[in-house]
Amino acid sequence: MSQTYLGKTVRDEFPIFRNNRRLISGIEYPLTYLDSAVTTLKPQAVIDAMSYYLEHDYGSVHRGTYRLSQISSDLYEQVRAQVARFVGSSITPEQVIFTHGTTESLNIVANGFSHGILTESSRIVTSVLEHHANLVPWQQAALHSNCEISYIGVDPGETGPITLDLNQAERLITPNTKVVAFSLVGNILGQQQPVQELVALAKRYGAYVVVDCAQSIASIDDDLFAQGVDAIAFSGHKMYGPSGVGILVLTKDLAKLLPPFVFGGGMIASVALEGSSWAPCPAKFEAGTPPMTEVVGLGAAVSWLESINRKRLHEHMVPLANVFVEGLKKLPNIKILNSQDKNRAIVSFYHTRIHAHDFATALDASNIAMRAGKNCAWPLMKAFGVEALVRCSFGAYSDTDDVERALEAIQKINLML
Ligand code: PMP
Repeated sequence: MSQTYLGKTVRDEFPIFRNNRRLISGIEYPLTYLDSAVTTLKPQAVIDAMSYYLEHDYGSVHRGTYRLSQISSDLYEQVRAQVARFVGSSITPEQVIFTHGTTESLNIVANGFSHGILTESSRIVTSVLEHHANLVPWQQAALHSNCEISYIGVDPGETGPITLDLNQAERLITPNTKVVAFSLVGNILGQQQPVQELVALAKRYGAYVVVDCAQSIASIDDDLFAQGVDAIAFSGHKMYGPSGVGILVLTKDLAKLLPPFVFGGGMIASVALEGSSWAPCPAKFEAGTPPMTEVVGLGAAVSWLESINRKRLHEHMVPLANVFVEGLKKLPNIKILNSQDKNRAIVSFYHTRIHAHDFATALDASNIAMRAGKNCAWPLMKAFGVEALVRCSFGAYSDTDDVERALEAIQKINLML
């Protein structure tokens, strides 16, 4: 493994690596962070932008006429415009809504659909591969609207990658389907969904398409709106930015159609004791004091990602995942999901004799961080007949040394059996 990846050159920008070397039984272990799918680590540029803002410019957004409030409001709106450019060439700042995370973004959409758009004869179509954030809100929307919800199953991919079953999708997306919701990249299998095909099926009957981009936004720069998607959702913390800020982008049509989800200050056009009315998007969906510092950090993360180049990032991570899979295949007692997929940066697997939680705890003894459990995807676990998984995922700072250390640690675990 001699190839030099992006990882080595950018790792110094992430102070957390310097601060988390651990002495274990007299040996110093560097931090091997293989959990970027749960949250990415933060580059100095993001940390500095947030500290600078707190030290120099902090003030309430859209709530003051004084200088600091004006500066804060300008910064906040500049990031909105930056995010608009980042997600699609046709997107205007008014279509970009700041939330507190992908989960809240998807709840805004699903809840909005259940207030007057879905009727008893409607159908929602989502899939068994979804993170709970893109499944439970739709179940709730179906319950409140008393309508049907259907789940696209898996095409096991005899030789190719696992993906959604498009034949089944064609059968499930019927004239009464109002919305089709899926993730662009799955959080367990790392598979990429066939957006064009799914959009084409949805648009036959005028259904809205909602895409969960939590796992894709940092490394896939496709303009989904140019492909006919109506809403996308993602989180700052999975794209090298801070936690506590999420993004929802809507087509102009959907931005008008959806009612607000949270009510209070900042989202109104008028308020009287007799009743209130709402400001247009994005204010309509941004009730309460927004995550100001986090939005500033998000702007720094977008700039940082643009300097890295998202395509390059994807091309950096995928070979690491492939090397890891090839290494895993040589080890006894390991079963890998979606091992045939050669274009993903997430690898989920399990040990046939050790529970995933114990396995991940054993890895931590070598200062290796990997996620373990049901990973907020219980229906997917059921579909694959597994109790729990260990998930290895890569980031900009990952490199071949991480892969080697992880494979060595797994070999050591096997020797203990
Ligand atoms: N969707 C997917 C595919 C995810 O991986 C996650 C986070 N694990 C979410 C949604 C939810 O994101 P958040 O917790 O930031 O709201």
